[in-house]
Amino acid sequence: MAELNSPIQDLFKLQKPQVAALKKLGIITARDLLWHLPYRYLDFSQVKTIKDLKPDENVSLKVKINSISSRFSFRGRMSLAEAVVSDETGSIKVVWFNQPYLAKSLNAGEEIFLAGKAEYYKSSLQMTNPIYEKVSDFPVHTSRLVPLYHLKQSIYPKTFRNLVAQALPLADKLPDELPAELVKNQGLMKIGDTINQSHFPGSAETLAAAQKRLAFEEIFYNQLAALRHKLLLKQKSAYKIKFDRDLIKAFVDSLPFKLTADQKKAAWEILQDIEKPMPMNRLLEGDVGSGKTLVAFMAALQAMSKGLQVALLAPTEILAYQHFKTAEKFLMHPPLNFNTRCCLLTNNYSQIDRHEISKKTLLQKIKDGMPGLYVGTHALLQKNVKFKKLALVIIDEQHRFGVEQRAELMQTARKVPHLLSLSATPIPRTLQLAYYGELEISQIKNKPANRKPILTKLVDQNNRGKAYEFISKQILAGRQTFVITPLIEESDTLGAKSAKKEQENLRKIFPQFNIGLLHGRLKGAEKELAMKEFLEDKIKILVSTSVVEVGVDVPNASVMLIEGAERFGLAQLHQFRGRVGRAEHQSYCFLFMTPTTSPRFAGYSSLKKEERLRGVAVSPPAKEGCHPKGDGVVGEDETMGRLKAFTKTQDGFELAELDLKQRGFGEVYGTSQSGWNFKYFNPSYIALIQPARAEALNLLKNGLNLENYPLLKEKLKGKIIHFE
Ligand code: ADP
Ligand code: MG
Repeated sequence: MAELNSPIQDLFKLQKPQVAALKKLGIITARDLLWHLPYRYLDFSQVKTIKDLKPDENVSLKVKINSISSRFSFRGRMSLAEAVVSDETGSIKVVWFNQPYLAKSLNAGEEIFLAGKAEYYKSSLQMTNPIYEKVSDFPVHTSRLVPLYHLKQSIYPKTFRNLVAQALPLADKLPDELPAELVKNQGLMKIGDTINQSHFPGSAETLAAAQKRLAFEEIFYNQLAALRHKLLLKQKSAYKIKFDRDLIKAFVDSLPFKLTADQKKAAWEILQDIEKPMPMNRLLEGDVGSGKTLVAFMAALQAMSKGLQVALLAPTEILAYQHFKTAEKFLMHPPLNFNTRCCLLTNNYSQIDRHEISKKTLLQKIKDGMPGLYVGTHALLQKNVKFKKLALVIIDEQHRFGVEQRAELMQTARKVPHLLSLSATPIPRTLQLAYYGELEISQIKNKPANRKPILTKLVDQNNRGKAYEFISKQILAGRQTFVITPLIEESDTLGAKSAKKEQENLRKIFPQFNIGLLHGRLKGAEKELAMKEFLEDKIKILVSTSVVEVGVDVPNASVMLIEGAERFGLAQLHQFRGRVGRAEHQSYCFLFMTPTTSPRFAGYSSLKKEERLRGVAVSPPAKEGCHPKGDGVVGEDETMGRLKAFTKTQDGFELAELDLKQRGFGEVYGTSQSGWNFKYFNPSYIALIQPARAEALNLLKNGLNLENYPLLKEKLKGKIIHFE
């Protein structure tokens, strides 16, 4: 008997390559098949008569085949099946290209459904390559909202739909992982119906209800995990780090500038948190250049002064090195000496203060509990790093590291360290809970007063020469320039600039200046060298891919030139722009669009063939359908509008909201900021966050261990950080 766990090859007649292809899609059992949901739908729900056909409309027809035959055309290179079909209102010619088997499977006199568009050919309407299926009570390829799936070669869309249709009765056997109460309270569709309606919707409304149920489920699990994490942490103990007013005051007084009001407020929130006996879990969010590092240092200093250890994790070696240098400057500079150690641990460095030491010695010091600030990369997370008195973990640019790292760092610690995450990715307010449901949030909204807005211009290709002249002047005045390209190497057809080519190109334009190169495929040491030379002003122009996005600080750089700007999200562009304007110099950001790419064309060519032939989406497609990077369905005007909007505001939060509205949130944050990679939940479901959170909280009141909800517990595995 067919069961949810039955392997698909037991249920259906499948060839080996088909089984292999399904396996690649993660489909092994009937259950997997049912959960392989469409990413969009073609709307062929309109069933018309031949008389009422209009050109270019997606419709279905119910017809009888009058005649059908096939032949080869175009000098025998292409097979051609031709049919004449009719209903009670008239008849129409149908043509199929390259489906030689078709004339064999369809016969004159048969009744079929056709789905597609009619178009004029030699002044009469004709259908070309329509989908067909024999007439039945439950059509799956025509006469309805027809599902489209992400598939692999060797599985045809039709084959897959047929498999799903056959497995569909099993959907009613799926256990509902959501508590029945909740499903009822929230008026959600039952799981069996949800699966049924997702594959073969009865109507746009039932499809919407199914999608809502899936989105709710997902955001509910997300909130459940977040809240559970939050509540569990409250039961753990952390070092109480008492606030020392004199120390903090001395530190603030030692700075060459005044802290901004937001910095003070954030610092105060953090210092208060770490006084408590339970672990802090806080995110410090602030635009690039808003001065998060110093705020974090205040907490670090406070902890170190109590003889404790602090870890500062950076996503790249370059950043780790920079943080270390900054720590040296602010925490150890004479005449003030806070008597703290600053250490650096990466693959290439192991250092205490200004002294290189062996990794072994450093590891021993860590194990002995030497108080200090330990700056490093993921090297800090390795098993042999055993902190004895780790009180605080600071994670810079949290989307590159997860909150989970805390768990790894505390393997030997007796207490749970406080966690401070720094992020320059502005999350729209409406989505904060979805991404950071377990975190307290401090924000730095205003930048230090000495910053001037970065003059941002969208530059026409005709004015490229002028832009280069301008750069030349800036460099002669002592400044430096970043050039960002979308690619490392020249790509096939897209015409987008690559870093390597651009370096050569700029060498010709600026023979007098040293031009460096930075991209993700360089070795660690090469990257390091390029950055170092740029920092030391030996390189005047640094050509780079998006690797430069994360936090690198070169105060002397005053121009950021971005090639192929349409290919980046606004949030990302904003990150790039934040690389300049980090000191008193007036800074500039120039955007160029890729000259040869028409976004429309790119969008067209990225569609799957079946969609290109006759595609319309009826629902907000899940993540893949609609927002390919920088091109896709977004039109040229919209792209221009987006970039223009970028030139007019310096506010990262505003840009994030814009990105969200226009491209969906996959674009705003990359993928798994907080370990969640939403599949069904999207910005149109923002209103579900609050009720989902309330339900989650309600459920956790009966115990954090979810003993009464084994299915939920299973579901959350891997999403929950264990401290026990
Ligand atoms: P981010 O928030 O991007 O991490 P940083 O902490 O690197 O920003 O700070 C950017 C620059 O601004 C640094 O050079 C830092 O020394 C400087 N800075 C920080 N706070 C202030 C302030 N209140 N006034 C002036 N400059 C500041
Ligand atoms: Mg930073």
